[in-house]
Amino acid sequence: MEPVHIIGAGLAGSEAAWQIARAGVPVVLHEMRPGTGTFAHKTGDCAEMVCSNSFRSDDDVMNAVGQLHWEMRNADGLIMAMADRHRLPAGGALAVDREAFSQAVTAALRAEPLIEIQGGEISELPESGNWIIATGPLTSDKLAQSIRSVTGTDALAFFDAIAPIVHADTIDMSIAWEQSRYDKGDTEEERRAYINCPMTKDQYEAFIDALLAAEKTEFHEGETAGYFDGCLPIEVMAERGRETLRHGPMKPVGLTNAHMPEQKAYAVVQLRRDNALGTLYNIVGFQTKMKYGAQTEVFRMIPGLQDASFARLGGIHRNSFLNSPTLLDDRMRLRRRPNLRFAGQVTGVEGYVESAAMGLLAGRMAAAQAKGHDLPPPAITTAMGALVNHITGGAEAKTFQPMNVNFGLFPPLPDVKSGRRGRKDRYPAYTQRAKDDFSAWLAAQ
Ligand SMILES: Cc1cc2nc3c(=O)[nH]c(=O)nc-3n(C[C@H](O)[C@H](O)[C@H](O)COP(=O)(O)OP(=O)(O)OC[C@H]3O[C@@H](n4cnc5c(N)ncnc54)[C@H](O)[C@@H]3O)c2cc1C
Repeated sequence: MEPVHIIGAGLAGSEAAWQIARAGVPVVLHEMRPGTGTFAHKTGDCAEMVCSNSFRSDDDVMNAVGQLHWEMRNADGLIMAMADRHRLPAGGALAVDREAFSQAVTAALRAEPLIEIQGGEISELPESGNWIIATGPLTSDKLAQSIRSVTGTDALAFFDAIAPIVHADTIDMSIAWEQSRYDKGDTEEERRAYINCPMTKDQYEAFIDALLAAEKTEFHEGETAGYFDGCLPIEVMAERGRETLRHGPMKPVGLTNAHMPEQKAYAVVQLRRDNALGTLYNIVGFQTKMKYGAQTEVFRMIPGLQDASFARLGGIHRNSFLNSPTLLDDRMRLRRRPNLRFAGQVTGVEGYVESAAMGLLAGRMAAAQAKGHDLPPPAITTAMGALVNHITGGAEAKTFQPMNVNFGLFPPLPDVKSGRRGRKDRYPAYTQRAKDDFSAWLAAQ
């Protein structure tokens, strides 16, 4: 049988290789480290965790990432098995001894007779064969260039500039209202495409003060580049002048407060729909380098967002990722070159766990293909299915930015309460449904 080739032995590529070998299909895993390094990786080991040593919450009832852990464990995931083996005490989170973890992943892959690990950088997308590209946020420059030549220059970003994303049902619509600027749009839906949060002068001034005082994160060494064009962090805009934001993303023009039509807002924060389900909204133009704790505090000062719950907070990072909603099919294959499947952070998911989960899925799909079968993704009601659905079509392609797994990606259940107060009932219902549907997907293979 022809082997499946994988480029990149990170979190995604390692998991993909394991799944393929377990399915009885040979694999060649190509990894450029340690010969060619990145600014973040320190070793030549597989599945190196470049920053924190946490796989986040392990609660598979109340937390979407915990549910993803559950699904990966049940699908014989190598990353979860090694994380469990090298777990460190960390309350409800799954923290690991990072060196022991990566060494254990490397040893398990080396011990697997169907896996061959080959050193060296792959600098061009291969023309034929069954390939998985899992080169991560720091994809080498040469390969990135080759990806761009096949997908188009705008299709592979080098930085993410993530504006915070809010769960729609936690926005206070007795303060906010739906309206596009100048009521633009051909349909009623388009004319109501944005959610607007109004500010008085005092609220605006207090907001600017909080932005200026908030704690910020620094770029990693080697991370900076010409990212600033068109995606200045809001705190940098505020530093350039107290009025800058009011003439930029917070300009109040072309909008009428539906609750108080006579009152002109001094500034307006706009939120734009982020997924087809309409469960998530991003705050327009609000990319930021503020620390996570500071972001929650500052953004809850926005009228209408005082009780907001965030599906993900903002950030700006060096990050190579595809515009997957336009480029990939639901089997994670490049539409234009279906012999190439993408997995991991380069597909536009964010985080160790999400990257490994996409590796697991791509691995199973590639192995099925090698055996002449077709494996559909798990249902959108599962954590893995919700995530892959988001990146391959559910997300808005125009504003696509990397995404963590979160309950906002799950289709709502009709009979459970929405909003922050409903979480106690809603989350267990989501995770129970996910477990049932994921088990059915596994059983059908
Ligand atoms: C600086 C930084 C900090 C991060 N911190 C966190 C964090 O704290 N928590 C978190 O959950 N996520 C974090 N992430 C995000 C992300 O989850 C991780 O980067 C994760 O490792 C992604 O998994 P991956 O398998 O997609 O990519 P990686 O784990 O990066 O694996 C990709 C592999 O491909 C190899 N490669 C690249 N190009 C080539 C080529 N041309 N030929 C051969 N091999 C190649 C690389 O050497 C690497 O081993 C961080 C990302 C960065 C850049």
